[in-house]
Amino acid sequence: MQLVYKEVPMEFLAALPEGIKYVQKQGRDFLVIEQLYCRDGHSLMADHVRMHGEPSIRLDARIGKKRGLMFVDAFWGSHDKLYSFLPGEADLQSITEAWCPHCGVSLMTERHCTYEGCGSDQAILLHLPGGVNRILVCAKHGCPDHELVIQRLPEEITRRIRKINYFGEFHDDMFKGI
Ligand SMILES: [Zn+2]
Ligand SMILES: [Zn+2]
Repeated sequence: MQLVYKEVPMEFLAALPEGIKYVQKQGRDFLVIEQLYCRDGHSLMADHVRMHGEPSIRLDARIGKKRGLMFVDAFWGSHDKLYSFLPGEADLQSITEAWCPHCGVSLMTERHCTYEGCGSDQAILLHLPGGVNRILVCAKHGCPDHELVIQRLPEEITRRIRKINYFGEFHDDMFKGI
């Protein structure tokens, strides 16, 4: 699959919410999650597991019958993940359930996914610094829907950010020589 590249809206870059940074690599714009918390304030960032050179997001996760740690790429729109367990082939059609790896609080919330053909009614809720802004990720395995809920940001801009997804050829080769 081709890399689907979408420009980050200027209006968003001018008022980046805390916990998200902007990086440019090879002339392309990327948003990177810098800090995320569970609702009780535990950091979900894993400094020791880096993906594309940045700390990843660590979750305690269950996919089907398998449970373990899941590390998610902090690049917004990348869907790269690492697992401490091997999800079974059949499990990949199911819902990912997630918990805070520190306190065990559930990160699940009810949310109907409007992505074509998905229809999941569960999402993973992650908190940005400050306790108001949030990220919602559809819990259906393989669904690319992810949403940024930012206070005081026009809906038009959050809608455009939601559509930033990188598929397929998003790998370290892109970052060679940087
Ligand atoms: Zn926690
Ligand atoms: Zn979905």
